[in-house]
Formats: sequence, C-alpha cells, structure tokens
Amino acid sequence: MSTPGHDYIVVGAGSSGCVVASRLAQKTDARVLLIEAGGGAGSPMINMPMGFAAMIGAGAHNWSYRSDAEPALDQRGVALPRGRVLGGCSSINGMVYIRGQRQDFDGWAAQGNAGWDHASVLPLFKKSEDNWRGAGAFHGAGGELHIRPVGTRLAIADRFIEAAQQQGIPANADFNADVQDGVGYFDANIAHGVRQHTARAFLRPALRRPNLQVMKHAVVRRVLLRNGRAVGVQVLHDGQVIDIGASTEVILCAGPTVRRRYWSVPGSAIRCCWRGWVSRPCMRYRQSANIFRITSIRWSRSKPATAVPITISSARAELH
Ligand SMILES: Cc1cc2nc3c(=O)[nH]c(=O)nc-3n(C[C@H](O)[C@H](O)[C@H](O)COP(=O)(O)OP(=O)(O)OC[C@H]3O[C@@H](n4cnc5c(N)ncnc54)[C@H](O)[C@@H]3O)c2cc1C
Repeated sequence: MSTPGHDYIVVGAGSSGCVVASRLAQKTDARVLLIEAGGGAGSPMINMPMGFAAMIGAGAHNWSYRSDAEPALDQRGVALPRGRVLGGCSSINGMVYIRGQRQDFDGWAAQGNAGWDHASVLPLFKKSEDNWRGAGAFHGAGGELHIRPVGTRLAIADRFIEAAQQQGIPANADFNADVQDGVGYFDANIAHGVRQHTARAFLRPALRRPNLQVMKHAVVRRVLLRNGRAVGVQVLHDGQVIDIGASTEVILCAGPTVRRRYWSVPGSAIRCCWRGWVSRPCMRYRQSANIFRITSIRWSRSKPATAVPITISSARAELH
C-alpha cells in the first residue's frame, strides 16, 4: 500500500527531529511529515522532572536496549535507555542543559564538516533558547526552549562545590559560556516545574501549521531509493506496511543507536555502515542534533561490517 507523498519526511520525532520538522514547517510551505515509532509524551512521569527515575527503566516509552557482554566489564551488558516517544530521549533524559564542547564542534569542522564549528552553531543554540540569563554573547531569549536554573539547592551540594574548589577546581557559574571546566550548579530544561522536551518546546507550537503532520506509532523500516536517491520510506503502521514518498528529502533523526540498528536489520533492503568519521562524533556528543541529510547512498547486501560508502551532508541549514 502506498500513500500520497510529502516534500520532506523526517524520521524520528526526538530531540533533533522535532526541531527540524518544526523549523521546516515554519520556514516553508513544504509538506512535512514527521514519523515517530513511539506515542505521545503526555505521561505525568515524562513531564514531572522527578519522573526521570521511572522513565530510564524499561517501559513503553523506552527502547530499552542492552549492550553485548562487555569484556572490560567482566562480560556484563550495559542498559542503554533510549526514548521511544514524541521528544525522544529529551522526554526521558536528565534535563541537564550543558551544550557540547567547543573543541568537539571545531574538531568536526576540521574533519571536513563545514558549518559545524562552534562559531557557526552558537547562533543556532542562542536562537532556540529562552534562557533565564537573558540574551548575551552565549545565550538567547525568546526562543522555544526554556532554560532555567535548578530549583533546589541543597546544603550538601553547596559543601561539595566548596570542597571541589578547595581542591583547586575553579568555580563555574555558567557551563554554557566561554569555559566549560569547573564546578557549580548546572541549568536545566525545566520551566515551571515541567520538563521541556522538544515535543513540548518545538513541535507543539508548530502543529498549528497545516503543512506539518505527525505520524505516531509508525516504525520506519526502510528508506526507499531510486537511482541512488532517497525518494521515500517504508513504514509499519497499524499492522500495515505503507510506502510514503518524499519529493524533496528524507531526513534521518532516529538517534545514533537506533539508526545504526535499523540500517543493519537482516533482510532489510539496505545494509550499510556509517562512515567511522561520521558516526563516532555523533555517538560521543550528548544532546547533539544528530541530523544527517542523505543526498545519495550506495547499498549492498553484504554484511554491515563491509563499509558501504554513503554520502551525507549536514542538514544544519534547516535549523537557521
Ligand atoms: C537516560 C538518558 C539521560 C540523558 N541525560 C541527558 C542530560 O541530562 N543532558 C543532555 O544534554 N543529554 C542527555 N542525554 C542525551 C540526550 O538526551 C540525547 O543525546 C539526545 O536526546 C539525542 O537526540 P536525537 O534526536 O539524536 O535522538 P532521540 O532523541 O533518541 O530521537 C530519536 C527518535 O527516533 C525515533 N525512532 C527511532 N527509530 C525509528 C524508526 N525506525 N521509525 C520511527 N521512529 C524511530 C525514536 O523513537 C526517537 O523518538 C540523556 C540520554 C539518556 C538516554
């Protein structure tokens, strides 16, 4: 079965997918379809910050991965929680608002990823923020994502911070300013006692636009290719397999762990590996917008271990 096409298909309504889809819909008249394997983020345990402890355990909103036996951990597996819900991991994570390190961004740019250097991405962070510190060199005001100081300051935490300083670790009152080293209280994606996941901050306001559609409980199984170009996706939804076309682009925002997994599902039309230089940085960087636009792809039925060249260009421009 196939359905009428869209201009853009965004796979995964997580931290990055909600931002990309909402920005695309706001900036253009293009028809944008955002596809998410999980459901809505209305659960009180998601929205109440203290519900965090419950969300990282196994449950309907979590893919609940587990690593293979790790030789360095005496062959034990490690729990790998990943959000399976609107907002993705931003709906289950620790809400700590600390951006990636300047050196990481600059390192990626130095490896040939134009536009990913710190000076280029800083304006995008600022644009997205409504920071309690107000607008300045490192922060923005009036953006979608509300950033507030942590509400609770415990005497024991104060003593810990003092002790660290006595040991020579410098105090840091803002981990998102010029220097990230140091000890202090971090800011949080929490406002008025409510978790600010990306489905709340970015997607919900954008849904007023008629050109943005969200498909929940839909698992993308394949990216459909024609002449090496991504032209749509195959989705499992309500027990049916549906092909959905995208006239302009398919943008993968399915998260690093899941994305690697479903590219290598046995029997899948596509088996491929991300080039090491692309996948390594995005696995390392927390709260990054792990967004890649596939412009062309070469595919094979060989084992994933056989590196398949894949051309990826940054979709960073859509965030402007
Ligand atoms: C428990 C935990 C705590 C964390 N704490 C913090 C923190 O305090 N501060 C911080 O900065 N970072 C934290 N992080 C990391 C941060 O949340 C992630 O790096 C970030 O959310 C990743 O964003 P993403 O858009 O790449 O992926 P995700 O947010 O994971 O989004 C991917 C989305 O794609 C969907 N999807 C996947 N496959 C398919 C498919 N085949 N079809 C359809 N949909 C699909 C998923 O269901 C998900 O909604 C934490 C992460 C976890 C798991």
